[in-house]
Amino acid sequence: MCAYAEYTGYGVHTTAMNCLFCSILDGAIPSTAIYSDELCYAFADIAPQAPIHVLVVPRKHIDSLSASTVEDTALLGHLLKITAEIARQQGLKNGYRTVLNTGADGGQTVAHLHVHLLGGRSLAWPPG
Ligand code: 5GP
Ligand code: ZN
Repeated sequence: MCAYAEYTGYGVHTTAMNCLFCSILDGAIPSTAIYSDELCYAFADIAPQAPIHVLVVPRKHIDSLSASTVEDTALLGHLLKITAEIARQQGLKNGYRTVLNTGADGGQTVAHLHVHLLGGRSLAWPPG
């Protein structure tokens, strides 16, 4: 068990009905695993926008960043820390981009909070 889950007893998997990423977490929909621990799961994006495109999702269902609460503060930090660890494991020495799309104007299409990790090519800025 990772330190945060052990400390808080927070390694709880809450599931929302009709949520694509909850179905992936349950194993009902197959995915290509990249990383897993008590709090989160990372898998390859089905439509990669860069040579490396990984999604890091909390096992707890949270609709979006804007729906997160103060109780989620450490969990959000864990997601970013793990994203950095995955980037290191993937050899992204030149850098990478982390993205959290939120809501309709943010381009969020799956209503389960997730961090995009994009890397392996030079990425333009600003986004469209
Ligand atoms: P959003 O648009 O919500 O920020 O990101 C959702 C991401 O989920 C998209 O990049 C999309 O390609 C990815 N995605 C959608 N459906 C699936 C799926 O069934 N499996 C996987 N691995 N990724 C998916
Ligand atoms: Zn969900």
